[in-house]
Amino acid sequence: MTFSVHGLAVSRGIAIGRAVLVASSRADVAHYFIEDDKTADEITRVRISRNAVMEEITRLQQDLPKDAPHELAALLDVHLMLLQDEQLISGVKHWIVDRHYNAEWALTTQYEIIARQFDDMEDEYLRERKADLEQVVERILRHMKGVASPVQPAAQAGAGRKLSQQDLLLDDTTDVPLVLVAHDLSPADMLQFKQSLFAGFATDVGGKTSHTAIVARSMDIPAVVGARSASQLIKQDDWVIIDGDAGVLIVDPSPIILAEYGFKQRQGELERQRLNRLKNTPSLTIDGQRVELLANIEMPEDTLGAVTAGAVGVGLFRSEFLFMGRSGKLPDEEEQYQAYRKAIEGMHGLPVTIRTVDIGSDKPLDRHAKAQDTHLNPALGLRAIRWSLADPPMFLTQLRAILRAAAHGQVNLLVPMLAHATEIRQTMSLIDHARATLDNNGTPYGPVRLGAMIEIPAAALTLKLFLKYFDFLSIGTNDLIQYTLAIDRADEAVSHLYDPCHPAVLRLIADTIAECDAQGKGVSVCGEMAGDVGMTRLLLGLGLRSFSMHPSQILAVKQQILRADASKLQPWAEQVLASEDPAALLQSA
Ligand code: PEP
Ligand code: MG
Repeated sequence: MTFSVHGLAVSRGIAIGRAVLVASSRADVAHYFIEDDKTADEITRVRISRNAVMEEITRLQQDLPKDAPHELAALLDVHLMLLQDEQLISGVKHWIVDRHYNAEWALTTQYEIIARQFDDMEDEYLRERKADLEQVVERILRHMKGVASPVQPAAQAGAGRKLSQQDLLLDDTTDVPLVLVAHDLSPADMLQFKQSLFAGFATDVGGKTSHTAIVARSMDIPAVVGARSASQLIKQDDWVIIDGDAGVLIVDPSPIILAEYGFKQRQGELERQRLNRLKNTPSLTIDGQRVELLANIEMPEDTLGAVTAGAVGVGLFRSEFLFMGRSGKLPDEEEQYQAYRKAIEGMHGLPVTIRTVDIGSDKPLDRHAKAQDTHLNPALGLRAIRWSLADPPMFLTQLRAILRAAAHGQVNLLVPMLAHATEIRQTMSLIDHARATLDNNGTPYGPVRLGAMIEIPAAALTLKLFLKYFDFLSIGTNDLIQYTLAIDRADEAVSHLYDPCHPAVLRLIADTIAECDAQGKGVSVCGEMAGDVGMTRLLLGLGLRSFSMHPSQILAVKQQILRADASKLQPWAEQVLASEDPAALLQSA
């Protein structure tokens, strides 16, 4: 029966596919498709690991001391029984043979199905056996890490393929698009799925500018977050439509609904094709004002998309993505240098703005050690520049890597989350220190322009201090909104209060642009607001001439710029700023 689940629209477009439910703790399990002739090998991998776990448990049983509690022996019996469970074994085979999932993926998929059956059980004792099943599956997965896959995670033929009605009606079980449904995904999980096979994402939690949502947007695939109980309501393998424009998930859609969404999907593709024609059109307003359109990237490889979309540089390279999901082992100077150099070379002489690491809050280093676990208020805690200044050797390593990479092209070095004069001075002195070390070692490096993010209201209210030290400013509206309105950007429960048009937010943005203009310093917006076509005219009216956004948003924003007359927008923007309800004026414009 068709039903819908509502959430927040975070990445545009329509995806239609079968649901893959992934528990966040198992999101780091490899997901890839295998070739026909490799199914037997994958089944063997699971069998070898399962047998090894059975042997382990049998040995444990034999070695149990005589006075061991009876419950312990009984528990090991249960584990042995679960390992031989017919539903587990045949289910895993089914996912490998019929769907061509790799072994780990097949195992976790089948686990999710059985776990759900345990959840539905009346008997409390049986319900609790879910935890035992989880333990044995984790044990098998651990073993499988040592049993190499005979196949590489290859680019998958059906990945992201748009679905026709016929496909759906034929229900071709081996080559259908898949959509990922999870309670939560960390930014590192999302990054792992970046080159993956999923046509869309949905999560129970998350706000519009949570970093998970940002990565989904950067991947340019439809996504809905904050869909509350989606991962409970949707079952493994259900057909799901992800409507990333409306923020809705439609589960088990009827043929009429499918036809309607198939049509919307095609319309979206046509719109994309139309926008593509603007790629080489200069970004000028009707009255001839040039507007710089830059790209936000997470990895050096993203520069390809940036260049393809016609970006004239990278306005924000979120370097923290190089640091995440590595079990705390941070990239050394050489690895970072190579990554920054790759991004610089990928932009073929265009400027690249590298932001120093912004770890913390909803961007934990490691998905298993969420900052939330240890800090009361992670967004107000040790994140971004605070984290860097708390660990000078780590920060100096990054600074040296960026300075060295700057020998290969134009680099801007951007510092996140500054608020205090002392932080600015410490940062400057560490940059000097990094230069001095490179000088002493005779290591070549290049010049950098220094910039600060304006994302804490305190910074926006002390612009003169910032402009004394920095060559340019970049407004991080995601955090500026979060900290001005005291709304956790990742919390869907307060997402209705996360308001980019709040007069206080607009005032801080307007003042920052005006002060930079007055002092002849560069200023751009690199938060999500820059890629929101509903805000383009207002930002132009406030005098903004540099926007940095996901490559996928560049052409739509350019279209707005080509249609805008900046001289007429200026007085209108003044009215919006003075209004009690700016959003209403924006809508009526
Ligand atoms: C911002 O806060 O607007 C920003 C661009 O930084 P991030 O989203 O990475 O916190
Ligand atoms: Mg920020």
